[in-house]
Amino acid sequence: METKEKSGVGTNPYIGLFEAHKIKSQILRSAPLNVRKEKLRKLEKWLMTNSDLVIEAVYKDFKKPEVEGFLSEIQPVVAEIRHALRNLHKWARPKKISTPVTYLSTSAHVYFEPKGVCLIIAPWNFPFMLTVLPLVEAIAAGNTAILKPSELTPHTAQLIEDMVSELFAEDEVKVVQGEVATSQQLLALPFDHIFFTGSPAVGKIVMEAAAKNLTSVTLELGGKSPVIVDETANIKDAAEKIVWGKFFNCGQTCVAPDHLYVHENVSSAFVKELKKALNKEYYKEGSVNDLDYGRIVNERHFGRLSSLMEDMVEKGGEVLHGGSANSENRLIEPTLVTGLPDSSRLMQEEIFGPILPVIPFNSLDEVIGKILKMPSPLALYLYTRSKANTRTIIDELPAGGICINDSVLHFAHYNLPFGGVNNSGIGKSHGYYGFVAFSNEKPVLTQRIGFTTLKAFYPPYNGLIKKLAKLVTKLF
Ligand code: NAD
Repeated sequence: METKEKSGVGTNPYIGLFEAHKIKSQILRSAPLNVRKEKLRKLEKWLMTNSDLVIEAVYKDFKKPEVEGFLSEIQPVVAEIRHALRNLHKWARPKKISTPVTYLSTSAHVYFEPKGVCLIIAPWNFPFMLTVLPLVEAIAAGNTAILKPSELTPHTAQLIEDMVSELFAEDEVKVVQGEVATSQQLLALPFDHIFFTGSPAVGKIVMEAAAKNLTSVTLELGGKSPVIVDETANIKDAAEKIVWGKFFNCGQTCVAPDHLYVHENVSSAFVKELKKALNKEYYKEGSVNDLDYGRIVNERHFGRLSSLMEDMVEKGGEVLHGGSANSENRLIEPTLVTGLPDSSRLMQEEIFGPILPVIPFNSLDEVIGKILKMPSPLALYLYTRSKANTRTIIDELPAGGICINDSVLHFAHYNLPFGGVNNSGIGKSHGYYGFVAFSNEKPVLTQRIGFTTLKAFYPPYNGLIKKLAKLVTKLF
């Protein structure tokens, strides 16, 4: 057997913290539900009192507009807390399971036990919400949690650390700040669950580290989320919703429309509507409205997007709108481009920024074929009035989630499971599904004492038992 020293766990700087959490998590297993609810109420109160601090931190990190801060960093967390507070008694109650005929003398229940000590690693694009929302789910399920916010949004990471040390004991919830090395030191520890949100590339590293300890994982990843606008769509409505979903948070959203297929019969009218919607939503007197449009998070990502734009020009892309990038303030104008070959980087890599390739098509089958060639997306959007097209897309295309006639909206619907499939993620979260992700569904079967039908099948096996075994196999 591997010793702690040999596995590197013994020299890990976070082993003391982890062991303190392990002890506390054992105490929390049998604590009444009110203990969890009390923590959630404290968190809710903090959020309602300090929302301005969250808005300020995300603005300092990448100029997130105030409205976007409220809608994407605070509201989904508050809604998740309230939903959990209303439903926790139902979710956590042992679930009675029906009894098959062959189990007549038994009763069965599923208990939801806390997994124990959980690690939550978050990305930078919704730096508050994507750290604290999984924390709500971890607490609701009765766990302790160690949080590793993104180092790319330091103001928000510090605010989360301050909030957590104000509200929770260190052995219940603790923030560890740091870069990749810190993340990897944490990943070496034998957590009971790891909840990771980030890129598919790092998701693979996380899963490999988790495999060493056979730790369960939820991986909320990314990828290219396509949009299809068919010839029956209301193109004005579609354009307004796509522009909002794409350019909210400056395109740095995991479920943002990544690239767009539009039926060639409506494509030129649709592009006009896209431009109108862009001008209405994001421009003031001919320039980008500074207050309502965010920035690229850092120089590295600005450089990545600039090189995608260089490739776009080299590969013959025709810019329909925007196309400018200012490195001084890391502002990339909302950009529409068409005429890109499938081999261009914009058509191959997750864009994660304010550039939208527009691709005209003439048959839905052709689009389905193209999407099937790519890794399964996190989100898939269809704008249509056609029931037949809707059914075809739902039936034929795998996706983490599908949203019809709107963008992004399914993400924060707390009664829906949220997550990816294959390359875009493993496992689901939000609401009840988040509670389950952080719980072990433990089956408990209770048998009556004394005679049971099974005893008739105990050895020694005689001819009658053999006949009965065959009969039972045939009948049930
Ligand atoms: P990322 O994968 O680079 O980083 C996420 C976290 O992992 C950070 O805390 C970082 O410190 C840590 N990390 C980075 N490299 C690591 C390594 N080698 N080993 C261990 N830890 C490491 O992602 P990002 O750039 O912060 O976020 C963008 C990505 O996240 C996009 O792909 C986006 O689609 C995805 N995303 C997904 C969701 C979702 O809910 N599915 C939400 C937001 C973002």
